Amino acid sequence: RKLPLDSSEEPGVRQVKGACFSRVKPQPLTKPRFVAVSHEALALLGLSGEEVMNDPLGPEYLSGSKLLPGSEPAAHCYCGHQFGQFAGQLGDGAACYLGEVKVGRWEIQVKGAGLTPYSRQADGRKVLRSSIREFLCSEVMYFLGVPTTRAGSVVTSDSRVIRDVYYSGHPRHERCSVVLRIAPTFLRFGSFEIFKETDEHTGRRGPSYGRDEIRGQMMDYVIEMFYPEIQQNYPDRVERNVAFFREVMLRTARLVAQWQCVGFCHGVLNTDNMSILGLTLDYGPYGFMDRFDPDFICNASDNSGRYSYQAQPAICRWNLVKLAEALAPELPPDRAEAVMDEYLDLYNGFYLENMRKKLGLLNQDEPEDEILITELLQTMHNTGADFTNTFRSLSQISCPNAGESEEEEDVRKAADLLLEQCANLEELKAANKPTMDPRELAMLLSMAQSNPALFQMISDRTTIARQLDRLSKLKDLMETSQEELKIKQAEEWSRWITRYRKRLARELEGQCDVQAVQEERVRVMDSTNPRVILRNYIAQNAIEAAENGDFSEVQRVLKVLEKPFSSQPGLELPAWVGGGEATEQGERD
Ligand code: AMP
Ligand code: MG
Ligand code: MG
Repeated sequence: RKLPLDSSEEPGVRQVKGACFSRVKPQPLTKPRFVAVSHEALALLGLSGEEVMNDPLGPEYLSGSKLLPGSEPAAHCYCGHQFGQFAGQLGDGAACYLGEVKVGRWEIQVKGAGLTPYSRQADGRKVLRSSIREFLCSEVMYFLGVPTTRAGSVVTSDSRVIRDVYYSGHPRHERCSVVLRIAPTFLRFGSFEIFKETDEHTGRRGPSYGRDEIRGQMMDYVIEMFYPEIQQNYPDRVERNVAFFREVMLRTARLVAQWQCVGFCHGVLNTDNMSILGLTLDYGPYGFMDRFDPDFICNASDNSGRYSYQAQPAICRWNLVKLAEALAPELPPDRAEAVMDEYLDLYNGFYLENMRKKLGLLNQDEPEDEILITELLQTMHNTGADFTNTFRSLSQISCPNAGESEEEEDVRKAADLLLEQCANLEELKAANKPTMDPRELAMLLSMAQSNPALFQMISDRTTIARQLDRLSKLKDLMETSQEELKIKQAEEWSRWITRYRKRLARELEGQCDVQAVQEERVRVMDSTNPRVILRNYIAQNAIEAAENGDFSEVQRVLKVLEKPFSSQPGLELPAWVGGGEATEQGERD
């Protein structure tokens, strides 16, 4: 169903003017069947996972192959800034809105349901790999306590599409698969960018440029529906809009702080992947970090590191500025700017509050806490420590009783514990290998020496600084033996642990029930630091099993990760054995 063109821009691109949705019909799959369901997510819709799985029509309905009675399927028109540039109209190219379920009022969507007016040159399908990744991570994030869209099921089929798999380099016929997505709404920052006037850099403009009345209606809808307190408390329209924008800003700041605290990297933080409700939205080449690296990049096509782990808070801020621009003049720019002035402090507040829990600090002690956290991350980076495991093991570090002197023995024991999470020499070397082509790197190095001014001019700070940093670390490592490394790592950890225990001791000063405080500290830590996380290899194992026809691993992984803070006897994931470069397993669109 290729749709007629009316724009000269690109073949297959149809500008949808003056509308937010286009009616479409999901394309049926051949022999749809369940890979897995999330009982908890389906329960939101008043459905029983058991019943749905046993119903021969279950996979038909939940993949959009058959339409649920009353469903009015449609594809949403949105725009977006992709990698910093206004991309113009994007829209639901593969997802299809099915309608709203009255139970709890949830929007449901099928992702991978075929062509829409927004599919451009692509086919509107998703394959098993990307569907399992989206399904698992949506649910895992929810159980970690991170705001997210949900996933009710993943269905696969005998329908096939061709994909170039980047790691094998040749095309494969893959099974069309569909995820049922659930959220109060899938509207995003980009939904408001359809009103954008001509972009000074690209010359593009939104398809609903100048249609101020639609923007007003869309804001009314979002605020009345999803921010009802704001609608009630602000009779003045401008004040209401400012309060709305401030709330979106606050939720976004809180969300990204949570990502940072679980080591999650989204990978494609374009404005069209930013939820207007502050939910994690669109799981593509995302990644949870193994060994801590602030420059962690999970998206193989992100050459500049724009969406690296440490860039996320600033990128979300940038995206909020773009949202503010799209809401003008309903949102006066000077008021938006004042709201944005609050972002950094709010973000830092959320981040520190969350990090204090991860360290088991029940009181606030600034600036000591911030230094302690920064030094912990620095130590993790230098020693190649695993992010998740390191935090989880902090609750095992004994806390000195108030007034007692520092005991060397305790520090040594704690350091031994943390050393288990660290990289060995070969792993650390691998982790510090420059990612840039060696010839390119050599050229840049010689330029940096011979013409520093020119080097500064062309230098993309993040990329080149990162490469040079890795190179100098690598050089040091080449001159180090495994024994020397181990000693250095132990020293670094002992230093940090000593500082940490001093801080813990101060927390106990003047407490009468030291035991109770200790227990509370461990309880807070063990319910904030997950024991298990959706590591890339875990998802990959489940995907490979499913591609070979065994769907049980997907369901088992979900079961383990539904309780990420506790161990479930008899239910274990394969152990992490270290190594493993970040690889993008999501679908290349
Ligand atoms: P993303 O960066 O993956 O969130 O998506 C960017 C744009 O590509 C959105 O407009 C998507 O709807 C569209 N898109 C992604 N995958 C497909 C696909 N398989 N077929 C058609 N459009 C797609
Ligand atoms: Mg998207
Ligand atoms: Mg995508």
